[in-house]
Amino acid sequence: MSLRSLGLPDNVYSYLLEHSLREPEVLTALRKETAEHPAARMQISPEQGQFMRLLVELMGVRRAIEVGVFTGYSSLSVALAMPDDGKLLACDVNAEFTSIAKKYWERAGVSHKVELVLAPASETLQARISAGEAGSYDIAFIDADKGGYQAYYEHCLELLRPGGLILVDNVLWSGAVADPSDQGSDTQAIRKLNDHIHADQRVNVSMLPLGDGLYLARKR
Ligand code: CA
Repeated sequence: MSLRSLGLPDNVYSYLLEHSLREPEVLTALRKETAEHPAARMQISPEQGQFMRLLVELMGVRRAIEVGVFTGYSSLSVALAMPDDGKLLACDVNAEFTSIAKKYWERAGVSHKVELVLAPASETLQARISAGEAGSYDIAFIDADKGGYQAYYEHCLELLRPGGLILVDNVLWSGAVADPSDQGSDTQAIRKLNDHIHADQRVNVSMLPLGDGLYLARKR
């Protein structure tokens, strides 16, 4: 849950943004609107959005999954970076948050690339597996309820093609994962998934201290 990368002194973080951030105007506008929202801390950092856009371009992503849309900063980032025939399956359960996302997908002219499904993500993903879509997605971004992380990871891994990439957000959880006195249920769920991914021989991995910690797992 972080608006910026963990642990960087203010002046270094400012330098990073001033010397690397290229944020399309529509994303800046969305970030400003979301900043006034009571749950603003659920938004990813702008440097993370830019990193995701670069990944989408590098991988030539045409089929993407997002679990946890919130007000849409990451989905809009992915949609903007995909080609015109790209498709993003966006899973969320909150109509109020995603109404903001929809407004900005419209404004950016990417609505035709996004399919929003308002239902528990595990049901949505399982339905896609049952419909024969396993092995057909390029990338998946998991950023939702932490108790569901393990299930989302397994579903997304099945839906990805070999060489596809899962991104799991908040894996450092503001540092709480490394604090043994923190036994909160979310913290424990994240620790459990981190251990699971670390040992998972179906993927090649890298954990980045970007935003609130981002675990990259590439399906073999
Ligand atoms: Ca997050």
